[in-house]
Amino acid sequence: MIQRLLIANRGEIACRIIRTARAMGIATVAVYSTVDRRARHVQEADMAMALSGARPSESYLDMTQLLDAARASGADAIHPGYGFLSENPAFARAVAEAGLTLIGPPASAIEAMGDKAAAKALMAQAGVPLVPGYHGTDQSPAAFARAAEQIGFPVLLKASAGGGGKGMKIVERADELTAAIESARREALAAFGDDRLLLEKYLIRPRHVEIQIFADHRGNCVYLHERDCSIQRRHQKVLEEAPAPGLEPPLRQAMGQAAVRAARAIGYVGAGTLEFLLDARGDFYFMEMNTRLQVEHPVTEAITGLDLVEWQLRIARGEPLPLTQQQIPLQGHAIEVRLYAEDPDHDFLPASGQLQLYREPLPGPGQRIDSGVREGDEISPWYDPLLGKLIAWGNDREQTRQRLLDLLRRTLVGGIHSNRGFLLRLLQHPAFTAGSLDTGFIAQHAAELL
Ligand code: ADP
Repeated sequence: MIQRLLIANRGEIACRIIRTARAMGIATVAVYSTVDRRARHVQEADMAMALSGARPSESYLDMTQLLDAARASGADAIHPGYGFLSENPAFARAVAEAGLTLIGPPASAIEAMGDKAAAKALMAQAGVPLVPGYHGTDQSPAAFARAAEQIGFPVLLKASAGGGGKGMKIVERADELTAAIESARREALAAFGDDRLLLEKYLIRPRHVEIQIFADHRGNCVYLHERDCSIQRRHQKVLEEAPAPGLEPPLRQAMGQAAVRAARAIGYVGAGTLEFLLDARGDFYFMEMNTRLQVEHPVTEAITGLDLVEWQLRIARGEPLPLTQQQIPLQGHAIEVRLYAEDPDHDFLPASGQLQLYREPLPGPGQRIDSGVREGDEISPWYDPLLGKLIAWGNDREQTRQRLLDLLRRTLVGGIHSNRGFLLRLLQHPAFTAGSLDTGFIAQHAAELL
């Protein structure tokens, strides 16, 4: 049983989790940093517990304070949302040791997927296709040079411990490799405290297509189809849609089955996402697994009609998966855009300050807004500047696109820089309308989008 759920997060995802918990009759406990005292998630929860600092390390990342808050509030379960401690195996263990239920996978599964090199070795064993590359323990420049020669340039260096698009370096030619390794190591060490690298063939303008999976405690595992997240800026997602335009059912099934194989190989439980790169020939390659709820989960909810947070909570309570693979719907089309406080005129620098104007329209049919802010809020430089997500769905991609445009036009942001205008141009770009997507889309069309 879960009777009282503490949400170890803030912003839109905290509000999103509260909504489902409330609908299931579960009481909610918010936590808040010193600058979030009056934040929306605090007001929407049934109870709220103060954390003692503003910085993430003194608040939403502080395990001791979070566990104390859970104990003091009488919570019996913790939902970590995404980001912060959601993929931290030490937190998963600490929650279990405190006798609480974590809404997430076992620590061992988080650990297995937390290191990109180790995860790739595991996936190769499970028969999941990988991008040709090198993820060995011999970290000498010579080992990387041999691998790069074998694979062929361009290649991509990644931090084994990496995430968030940080620490990746494209290497075009053999004579650039040594210098690139040195600089990638420095960056990886600074960002993740770990300088191990791996190398992959750099695919030319692939698509990013990911599979949502769910597994229960009884060994059942299903996939809830795919999301196309190819529209990225600097390897960070900006817009996501489902299903992936043009993806044929046999390929969807092959990717879904590979994802389920991957999840089974590590004894996965709960919600997870397998990220793949898809090339123009229809070959797909495992990139990484995210062992948590994704930012873009609403597009999957829209095409399936399911509530993914509800599924997470039911699985955490020990219930079996609510549906079998054959019963999982796929209907219509859905698109989400991420509305950020950031300045497109200055290289999308995160913006902070007062959100002087913020108006959300009443959503019409096939429209949804997941946000965590209100007019007058102070947007803090300490946290991710995501204001919210606008989601639309409809019978087909074009109806969905029109509904999302309408929703975005009726959403007003002022007094702070935002990417609203950028998103409006993106949704109206002829190449986007035509559905021709790959990870180079924004770079290629930058002149018209900025
Ligand atoms: P992170 O964990 O830092 O977000 P990922 O490994 O998930 O990094 O990759 C993020 C993005 O970088 C992908 O969605 C894709 O656009 C690009 N990318 C990653 N690996 C490759 C590759 N081998 N070839 C081309 N693009 C890649």
